[in-house]
Amino acid sequence: MPQQHNNLIGGEWLAGSDYTPNINPSNLADVVGHYTQASAVQLDAAVHAARAAFPSWSASGIQARSDALDKIGTEILARREELGMLLAREEGKTKPEGIGEATRAGNIFKFFAGECLRLAGEILPSVRPGIGVEVTREPLGVIGLITPWNFPIAIPSWKIAPALAYGNCVVFKPADLVPGCAWALADIISRSGISAGVFNLVMGRGSVIGDPLVNHDGIDGISFTGSQLVGGRIAQQCAARLKKVQLEMGGKNPQVVLDDADLGQAVELSVQSAFFSTGQRCTASSRLIVTDGIYPRFVEAIKTRMASLKVGDALQAGIDIGPVSSQSQLDQDMEYIAIGTAEGATLVAGGERLKRDTEGYFMAPALLIDTIAQMRINREEIFGPVANIIRVKGYEEALAEANNTPFGLSAGIATTSLKHATHFKRQSQAGMVMVNLPTAGVDYHVPFGGRKGSSYGPREQGRYAQEFFTTVKTAYTLA
Ligand code: NAD
Repeated sequence: MPQQHNNLIGGEWLAGSDYTPNINPSNLADVVGHYTQASAVQLDAAVHAARAAFPSWSASGIQARSDALDKIGTEILARREELGMLLAREEGKTKPEGIGEATRAGNIFKFFAGECLRLAGEILPSVRPGIGVEVTREPLGVIGLITPWNFPIAIPSWKIAPALAYGNCVVFKPADLVPGCAWALADIISRSGISAGVFNLVMGRGSVIGDPLVNHDGIDGISFTGSQLVGGRIAQQCAARLKKVQLEMGGKNPQVVLDDADLGQAVELSVQSAFFSTGQRCTASSRLIVTDGIYPRFVEAIKTRMASLKVGDALQAGIDIGPVSSQSQLDQDMEYIAIGTAEGATLVAGGERLKRDTEGYFMAPALLIDTIAQMRINREEIFGPVANIIRVKGYEEALAEANNTPFGLSAGIATTSLKHATHFKRQSQAGMVMVNLPTAGVDYHVPFGGRKGSSYGPREQGRYAQEFFTTVKTAYTLA
């Protein structure tokens, strides 16, 4: 009987209304564990526990906070292999990708352990003689954190770590598909020396737990990562209640390949960002925008490279691409391939369901050519191992196509031209721009986020995280 896992509320591990099995997408017969479903009453209790803990936590001092975050980061890094395997087993990333993500999570906690010691304010002269002005940052309060399934340990970490570092209390609702990493993280946090109620975990569905969390009067701000559909609704609910909100949402990221690109490099970075992590990254390149002169060679070379990719059980050695995360995501991927071909695109590689030793959601990475910007497959996020090639005449058209999207998260260019690389960095309407690097794959100590329909509110990560997780106070003193 797999272990049963409970919610963490006010320092106690509490059973919810029911337990849901967490299924391995590489092997549907493998149950990772049973995870409880919080009730709305438990959510309310978690918010009250966080509110009760806030006065002492926010006044606890930066050394105590730094020590707790450092301890969490140290344990995650020490257990990165085990946590990476858990991640691979429940989400379907390959084991090296899972270990990489766990390492990132540990590094994020370490970074914010230092960062909370560096929270600075300003002392300014007043325009009125004899008066001093101080500008300081204070914790926002109790924050609701809502996360998606595709980075089940890194995204919670890059929200929880700054929230705690700057003196806030947390109610964390992970995606219901991946409670395993969330529970493991909560277990580590619960042993870090922080007081009961500072950090709370409530597992359950968005409609049951997420919605009341957003609308709870005891919540001062919501930091959300997920789809545009859900994010847009949360933004409206927060605006109606005048709550601070931060949203990171989807992408339709372009990878431009110019005639003068190094072909081998361009193919490798396109394959990496389009198909690795099964294409289930908000920063994945789903639109490959290729200029005429290199187009025939690029298409042949990427097809050859794709044929060498090994799709299979995420925990097996030598696998490049694990399974799609769920049946509904697999259905969505397949449906978009059908939509694309019905719109006039040509499927030239992959796109079929694959059989392996175990029953899982395996799919061959798909490449569609003859696609144009107006097609739904180039406008809507598919979120699977599906890439579309848009053929263009030259750099100017490539840039225009890259920006021709309702999203604006990440954008890449493969070129040996300094002139075009520099122009692209300046003119791209994305929050993150990559030159001769995959659109996916970023550092943990610098801001992360996008523009247009991809992001809303202050940036996440790095020093910029303080914008959301603190509130500014201006104090005047008569000398
Ligand atoms: P989703 O929007 O379906 O769910 C995200 C979270 O919101 C989950 O925890 C879910 O339970 C919760 N939720 C659902 N309905 C809710 C409601 N009514 N009220 C409150 N919470 C609710 O997204 P997903 O399928 O889990 O994740 C995939 C999406 O996340 C993709 O669009 C992807 O691009 C995006 N994503 C963005 C980033 C980024 O940083 N920009 C990173 C990773 C993933």
